[in-house]
Amino acid sequence: MSELHLLSTQQLVTGLQDKQFSSLELTEHFIKRIDALDSKINSFITHTSDTARAQAQAADEMRAQGDQRPLLGVPMAHKDIFCTQGVLTTCGSKMLHNFVSPYDATIVTNIAKAGMISLGKLNMDEFAMGSDNSSSYYGTVQNPWNLERVPGGSSGGSASAIAAGFVPVATGSDTGGSIRQPASFCGLTGIKPTYGRVSRFGMIAYASSLDQAGSLGRSAKDCAYLLQPMVGHDPRDATSIKHDMPDYVQDINDAEAQAGDKPFAGLRIGVAKEYFGAGLDAEVDKLTRAALQKYEELGATIVEVNITDPEITLATYYMLAPAEASSNLSRFDGVRFGYRCENPKDLIDLYTRSRSEGFGPEVQRRILMGTYALSAGYFDAYYIKAQKVRRLIIKDFDDAFANCDVIASPTAPTAAYKLSENLDPATMYLGDVYTIGVNLAGLPALSQPVGLTSEGLPVGLQLIGQHWQESQLLTTAHLFQQHTDHHLQHSAIAKETV
Ligand code: GLN
Repeated sequence: MSELHLLSTQQLVTGLQDKQFSSLELTEHFIKRIDALDSKINSFITHTSDTARAQAQAADEMRAQGDQRPLLGVPMAHKDIFCTQGVLTTCGSKMLHNFVSPYDATIVTNIAKAGMISLGKLNMDEFAMGSDNSSSYYGTVQNPWNLERVPGGSSGGSASAIAAGFVPVATGSDTGGSIRQPASFCGLTGIKPTYGRVSRFGMIAYASSLDQAGSLGRSAKDCAYLLQPMVGHDPRDATSIKHDMPDYVQDINDAEAQAGDKPFAGLRIGVAKEYFGAGLDAEVDKLTRAALQKYEELGATIVEVNITDPEITLATYYMLAPAEASSNLSRFDGVRFGYRCENPKDLIDLYTRSRSEGFGPEVQRRILMGTYALSAGYFDAYYIKAQKVRRLIIKDFDDAFANCDVIASPTAPTAAYKLSENLDPATMYLGDVYTIGVNLAGLPALSQPVGLTSEGLPVGLQLIGQHWQESQLLTTAHLFQQHTDHHLQHSAIAKETV
């Protein structure tokens, strides 16, 4: 049974249906791996092994009684940004070191209703602010492909846990790239859906107009399996939108059945020179272009499009996201929510020290930047101006999509860098150049693996779709994966048996 952790979600679903293994066996297999190997990568903050075992046993009984939910008994894990009733929910912060949520996030409820079993809560950058998981109060996370490298962030725990073979799939959240960039760094597929597609209820807010939950897995089809129970309208989230409910796995199966040897005939892939500018690593550039050439060989047409200069997009994001964060994080004051300092002298001392001691340096930096941008004297010059530029960024995407069906780019300008590089904040922000425009425009996008650098580090290709086109993105990546094997390469840790 040593290979169970390398099976695709589809294989897990059919294996359970055909009684090749039970959910309890599967769950035990993953728990054993986590217990033996997670000390190397620190991907989990909280384990829920005992409840997982009980749920697996219950899932096996339900299946024996005829329950046909496909995902019944399939293990997964949640990024620690999602509230889980009765289970510690830290958001990677000391501020929430003892917060046991009294309720479940909507997606947590829906994934449980689909029958999936959560093995625990995954490490992340503090309050999802960061790109390499180094801001977590619970320690850095190592990349299973190379332990000296970062896994990306902020969903670094989600990506490293999957790449290590600890869970087949995991949830993530993406405000400016936090699903796609760690997927790229860890050789996975990860999708950020259209803004409004997935409920934000119970997902701890970073920048509410940008935040969106999504799924990570090894393949596009793995992502489709987990995304399915996550999507849908939720009356408890005012920005959740009522829209047609697709069946992602069915759409993938239909597309595969119809695909000939040129599955992408008629597909126009937009490529923008703005996404291939200065700062792009030469090997990432090469692997991305090779993937585009493969798409062409398989029938796609490459068309040139223009999008907003990524530097402008970067400045806009790093104005708006901290502004929203400064407002969202004001609730953590040691009174209403969060860590409270010892022996406060008075109320001001309580607020000041609780927030200074409870938040790490990156979160404090964002709160300062955001508060400044929203302050009376600077509001028009910074916040309002950034909102106007956001409108223009959306328009540029709309114009580009007049001439293409999807837009492709590198997911990140580099492969995973060394933890010891200890990037200064501004350099780290630069790593987000290709992913943040998508969030500002509310578009869906995924990252898919397209090969390894000479140092054996994974590289991702980003595919951006029009609003509500998750199915097209997943299907496109899936058909590509039918003709390539990048998604079938495994990290050093995944190859270890225990
Ligand atoms: N790296 C980006 C930031 O720090 C994006 C984070 C995210 O998507 N949550 O803001």
